[in-house]
Amino acid sequence: MRGWRHHLHAHPETAFEEVRTSAFVAELLASFGIEVHTGLARTGVVGVIPGKAPGPWIGLRADMDALHVEEANQFEHRSRVPGKMHACGHDGHTTMLLGAARHLAETREFAGTVAVIFQPAEENEGGGRVMVEEGLFERFPIESVFGLHNWPGLPEGYFAIRTGPQMAAYDIFEITLTGRGAHAGMPHLGRDATVAAGQLVGALQTIASREINPLDALVVSVTQLHAGDTWNVLPENVVLRGTVRSFTPAVRDLAERRIREIAQGIAATFGIQAAVCYERRYPPTVNAPAPTQQAIAAATALVGAERVDLDPVPSMGAEDFAFLQQARPGAYIWLGAGPGASGCLLHNPGYDFNDEILSVGASYWVQLTRQLLPLDAAQHTGSAA
Ligand SMILES: [Zn+2]
Ligand SMILES: [Zn+2]
Repeated sequence: MRGWRHHLHAHPETAFEEVRTSAFVAELLASFGIEVHTGLARTGVVGVIPGKAPGPWIGLRADMDALHVEEANQFEHRSRVPGKMHACGHDGHTTMLLGAARHLAETREFAGTVAVIFQPAEENEGGGRVMVEEGLFERFPIESVFGLHNWPGLPEGYFAIRTGPQMAAYDIFEITLTGRGAHAGMPHLGRDATVAAGQLVGALQTIASREINPLDALVVSVTQLHAGDTWNVLPENVVLRGTVRSFTPAVRDLAERRIREIAQGIAATFGIQAAVCYERRYPPTVNAPAPTQQAIAAATALVGAERVDLDPVPSMGAEDFAFLQQARPGAYIWLGAGPGASGCLLHNPGYDFNDEILSVGASYWVQLTRQLLPLDAAQHTGSAA
């Protein structure tokens, strides 16, 4: 698995362009004697592994895409592609599911069918949504789905999962303020959009701090400000872009409504125009009760109850596994990747997937399969308690 992981890390590919990665996955699955389906969401791959006896279908999902980050590492398996790297560990996720698939195909010690789902474009572009739209659950009668993400900051080989929201909904917005350009020494002859933009950045922060219940979670972050080209000209336009993170539909609706209203209000105050685009990207990642209990049982059987955190603080990060969970009951678990020393945090240019957890992650998939699809039902009764 280490070899596969290093190969994937050295050859990162981003959203919907995971051509080599997808071919690598498909070839390995075929070499394990697994029936392979390609082309779902362009570069997505599904392997179908029937067990020794008939039974229900389950889906195990990994993501394959890299990020637009220039890698700062110098080790042998560093990215060979300028401006792209596996900074979120999807190389490790793909590897662990490949390892599990090989074991499951060799042993087939389960009653039912496992679909191993390798999805493209988890970062930003919603490859999971596209797989669902292109018929993932119609082509494969999967009854429940399971996802996993490595988690720096959680001790190596620990697990963390909770019923209900585990990761936030993810939206983006763009606000264009249009004033009237003028000589910077004669501002009274124009309509200054930059002063309005300054007020707007501050005013947007009052949505989270003043308008929602303090015990609800909301982030409104302005992440881009674009205006002007020189020193002595008041620009006609200012573009602000940013992201919104929330957990509940009520908070999400409120954030969108207030961003629109505040932008219009600030524009009216300064006598300029505001155009607001608001786009809902990912729903929140919400763990369904039954699959979550099954995931907890598998993790506990593997590493012991003392290493399974059942009440982690949810993350304001987002996950497009949420789209799979909207279609079928599912559970998404974090696998501890260690302390995150020397910048080894998700999306950091110094990040590298921790190979020490490859075997734990692959074993989790195998354990989960055996518990969910027991060959001898009587023997396993109660094991999911
Ligand atoms: Zn990521
Ligand atoms: Zn990720």
